[in-house]
Amino acid sequence: MKKLIIILTAVLCGYQYAGAWGRTGHDAIAYIAERNLTPKAKKTIEKYLDNHSIVYYASWMDQYRKTPGYEKTSTWHSGSVDADLRNTDEVRSPKGDAVAELENAIARLKNYRELDDSTVNVNLKYIIHLVGDMHCPSHVKYTGKDVKKIKRVILNGKKVSYHSVWDSGALAGNHAWGYTEYGHQLDRLSKKEQKAITAGTPKDWFEETARDCKGIYEMTEEGGEIGKDFINQSRHLVDSQVTKAGYRLAKVLNDLF
Ligand SMILES: [Zn+2]
Repeated sequence: MKKLIIILTAVLCGYQYAGAWGRTGHDAIAYIAERNLTPKAKKTIEKYLDNHSIVYYASWMDQYRKTPGYEKTSTWHSGSVDADLRNTDEVRSPKGDAVAELENAIARLKNYRELDDSTVNVNLKYIIHLVGDMHCPSHVKYTGKDVKKIKRVILNGKKVSYHSVWDSGALAGNHAWGYTEYGHQLDRLSKKEQKAITAGTPKDWFEETARDCKGIYEMTEEGGEIGKDFINQSRHLVDSQVTKAGYRLAKVLNDLF
């Protein structure tokens, strides 16, 4: 029994670190968006999501990335920028990435009334998740030579991937909140501030993420030891990225529905 518990704990912890933004991050982003949907958009969207809220499907893409029929989506969770931090066609993956696939899903849903329900359903799931992923600091691939690569660090004495620190470790280390408490704390911007944040296109938002998050590769070294100070330093960036993603997701969905 003891052995089983140890194995289960290892599997569950591993799972938590494998998910982009972790579930709490994605859920909080979708929850902020849900709080800012128009009543009409909320009603229409939930009709296509089998009467579920957008939060219910916030991490669906992470859960289905290896499911037969959805393997093509496995590369869609991140994006690249060139040396000038631009998401140009040259650096976009031919297999699809977060920005291109978000643009594609938005373009498809512009005619949602002419699509069958399952097509609307799956494209909604793509949008809900990809807006979140493109704001995750570790989901920007910097192809320029001036950004150093950090693969592994030591967090609280354990070797972990640096990617996972930004997906979930930084968020979990700062607050032990669930997504509703976290969403409540972040969803406090004025209408004017929201308008400024939601201006632009997904490509603009991703390039802004690239500019704002480049500094994470200056915060430590390959194999560096990080702890409470690092987590404290990460707080503002994580909060800011989740907040922006939440309002931008609401903007995309309100414009479509
Ligand atoms: Zn993802």
